[in-house]
Amino acid sequence: MNQPLVTCEHVDFGYENYDVVKDVSLEINPGDYLCIVGENGSGKSTLMKGILGLIKPTGGTLFVAEELKKSGIGYLPQQTPAQKDFPATVEEVVLSGCLGKRGNRPFYSRAERQVAEANMKRLGILELRKSCYRDLSGGQKQRSLIARALCATDKLLILDEPISGLDPAAIMDFYHLIRQLNQKEQVAILMVSHDIGNIIHQANKILQLKQTVQFYGTVEEYRQSVYGKEFLGGEE
Ligand code: ADP
Repeated sequence: MNQPLVTCEHVDFGYENYDVVKDVSLEINPGDYLCIVGENGSGKSTLMKGILGLIKPTGGTLFVAEELKKSGIGYLPQQTPAQKDFPATVEEVVLSGCLGKRGNRPFYSRAERQVAEANMKRLGILELRKSCYRDLSGGQKQRSLIARALCATDKLLILDEPISGLDPAAIMDFYHLIRQLNQKEQVAILMVSHDIGNIIHQANKILQLKQTVQFYGTVEEYRQSVYGKEFLGGEE
């Protein structure tokens, strides 16, 4: 039977002595494509950090599948200018996704190099392996970072505002790629996005956050809900 990859039961997350996200319940199953939407400051990044294990729950229960605990979760952070100028080859950037599994060994193993190569192939960037990361286009950089994230695990990919900074053609290319990973390769997707007009056609579940969960359900249920109607406005 397929076990959930991540389960939150009435979970709270916060900083020091205040909670930013309260009473969140959700489940990410193999094959899911869950988008988290909400205004700025509603706690989306905090929830992601919690699921990634970067901050601990202050209440409730968070379950993460054993296989993800061992390998780490594939994560595509928001890109900062410093990351965009990273002086490394594509291959080095992708391989660094294996760091979570590497422990104290000083060199990458043969198996890790094979995983990195397979993921570069999967993302169509194998011929760019010796190119300098900072010379790539926005779309190629993003493919490299997705390949990197898949080196940790190909069960769940977490993306935080992934389309910011991409041009319209690269955005459509990105959605196509993610959909393929999700539908053909059963990679579960968890994405924070403001791009509701597009994600409504991509995701299967939506969670709308404003400190607590305002809505959690299927895309179809979201379209019918007061939140969906308000948030979607004239976007469709
Ligand atoms: P979103 O991703 O939806 O914009 P965030 O999770 O980034 O929301 O922020 C939610 C709230 O948590 C904000 O009020 C923000 O100031 C606060 N916050 C975010 N990060 C930290 C932090 N590291 N320390 C303390 N407060 C934080």
